[in-house]
Amino acid sequence: MTESTVRMFRNIGIIAHIDAGKTTTTERILYHAGVTHRLGNVDEGSTVTDFMVQERERGITIQSAAITCDWKGYQINIIETPGHIDFTAEVQRSLRVLDGGVVAFDGVAGVEPQSETVWHQADRYGVPRLAFINKLDRSGASLERVVEMIRTRLNAHPVVLQMPIGSEAELQGMVDLIDMKALYFDGDDAFHVRDIPEELKAAAAHYREQMIEGLADVDDDVALAFLEEHELDSETLIQAIRQATINNLMVPVMCGSALRNIGVQPLLDGIVRYLPSPLDVEPMKGTDPAVENEIACHPDQEEPMAALVFKISTDPYVGKLSFFRCYSGRVKRGESIYNPVTNNRERVGRLVRMHAERREEVDEIGAGDIGAILGLKIAKTGQTICDEERPVVLEQITFPAPVIEVAVSPQSRGDLDKLGNALQRLTEEDPTLFVHQDEKTDETILAGMGELHLEVIIDRLRREFHVGVDVGEPAVAYCETISRPVEVEGRLVKQSGGRGQFAVVKIQFEPLEAGTGFVFENAIHGGAVPREYIPSVERGIVDALKSGPLAKQPVVDIKATLVDGKYHEVDSSERAFFMAGSLALREGVLKGAPILLEPMMAVEVVTPTDYTGDVIGDLSARAGTVTGIEPQSPGIQRVTAHVPLARMFGYATNLRSNTQGRGVFSMQFSHYQQVSEETRKALISQVA
Ligand code: GDP
Repeated sequence: MTESTVRMFRNIGIIAHIDAGKTTTTERILYHAGVTHRLGNVDEGSTVTDFMVQERERGITIQSAAITCDWKGYQINIIETPGHIDFTAEVQRSLRVLDGGVVAFDGVAGVEPQSETVWHQADRYGVPRLAFINKLDRSGASLERVVEMIRTRLNAHPVVLQMPIGSEAELQGMVDLIDMKALYFDGDDAFHVRDIPEELKAAAAHYREQMIEGLADVDDDVALAFLEEHELDSETLIQAIRQATINNLMVPVMCGSALRNIGVQPLLDGIVRYLPSPLDVEPMKGTDPAVENEIACHPDQEEPMAALVFKISTDPYVGKLSFFRCYSGRVKRGESIYNPVTNNRERVGRLVRMHAERREEVDEIGAGDIGAILGLKIAKTGQTICDEERPVVLEQITFPAPVIEVAVSPQSRGDLDKLGNALQRLTEEDPTLFVHQDEKTDETILAGMGELHLEVIIDRLRREFHVGVDVGEPAVAYCETISRPVEVEGRLVKQSGGRGQFAVVKIQFEPLEAGTGFVFENAIHGGAVPREYIPSVERGIVDALKSGPLAKQPVVDIKATLVDGKYHEVDSSERAFFMAGSLALREGVLKGAPILLEPMMAVEVVTPTDYTGDVIGDLSARAGTVTGIEPQSPGIQRVTAHVPLARMFGYATNLRSNTQGRGVFSMQFSHYQQVSEETRKALISQVA
């Protein structure tokens, strides 16, 4: 594998609001890419058996965390992104490992609230995107309207590269505005390239001019050519679009109907033309866990290996699969890999790449590529695996704190055992699922990102792990943080006879901006605490974050800086420093003017104007703050508000009766806010 191979990789995600057509689009992409593969490789043979295997397994593999397909010599790795808002943390972690995204929009509904959230997350990670306006065959679909929504609601710079031919049920294809050719699709595998028919020429010329104007806004050479009225050839346009897209200056817009097989092959061309290869993005950064200096991991197979495990899933045929992205070097079968955080090693057994129709066993997966290890034990989701010779911890993914929790209790003795194992597996797979034991009731509490998230987990407990559980009512998850910086000491000194325990750490804690999570920094240079014990201090703090000292809620948005410490030649150990870290955290929170926070939701209600008053009244009664009222379409308004999650239970029923069933709403986590004095007292007294 060489640099030119890496240049041919595209690691992309298909991102969409639920129902916009993500599944259909993915399936069609795999299908068309597969067709080309078969046509292009006659000697590999495209037997009927191949095809049946493909059909049979598609149902499973399409949900695979990553699927590989080939298109015109390029290797496209499609990384699964979940559609539902409750899983935005998963979206976030897929955004971390992909280099570009195809965002599918419904041609009728356009930009929906969830697409907005995901879009802004992609902005945060600087992921270049291409928009695919799907479902243009539906009645009421409008490319122009969706493009306008992308411009105004997403604040992006969309540039349309295709003009639809026909509309709604009469949609036939599109004009490619770069080559100025008409593409006609007749519903099956092939499409036909023709000259633009006379009656469409004027419209196509107008569309092309708009495209070039849009491009001129972000590319000086194109701007100059435009002003001087030079013709621009296709290759120049393609390169200009590619550069501007990779630099996040514009969003190329393509369109079609995945369901009716219209526009899928051009979309594949768009993916390879406009989305970045691993060489076009910044190298992944990591830190050496011992000395804390930054290491850049380049997509170069000659560098030592570093890879990030981004998803663990269970395949019904082969068992546990750990999907990873290799950032540098090569993951090789039979070689030893290392987890720098837990200090564990393991030999790589089987290594696979997933295709739509088969699993391909491979000997190695190189830099820039994505693959999966079978039965890997040493790494959880979000952790780094690397070459032990060059330990590196890749940039951690920060996950939002859970907002909702539910108590589960096993129905029998047998279920109790099974529950423990199942939850261990599930928390390994899903870093946004938190499990703890309620000390008073001895119930197991599951905390997660939303009601649906927990429902899915409980469903998996029952179906996949066959655990019988009773489930309580969902409740809001609160959390703790500090409101002023403090410096404290964590001391574990037990030295009376025999081997003792000795660890002392001095740590500064300071509050962080909401949503930052936890940050650890080591500011000791010199040997006050030996290097090998520093990760233990961090692990001790992380462990204590799970249950804060104020009301036993998780501690969030806090930074710990290790500034000093003491150790003993004989009595110090990893365990002792772990304990000292935990003790320091408890002390730090109690002395740092702790506060209790509750999740606030961003609620959006779309309602006929007649009921807007009632909707607003109801939101206010739930301690909500209305942040906007806008016209959505004639006679329909969009009300946005922030409301405490605790006050949103049962909202669907209320809304239905307030609007005679005509209002719809969506909500998602927005931020944390300090709880009222009443709630604070109630929470503290519960654990006292
Ligand atoms: P996902 O939830 O985003 O994965 O969406 P799906 O791919 O499951 O599609 C949701 C629904 O929209 C399904 O009923 C599809 O058949 C339908 N659908 C998907 N693409 C198109 C399209 O291009 N045109 C039309 N008319 N329907 C489509």
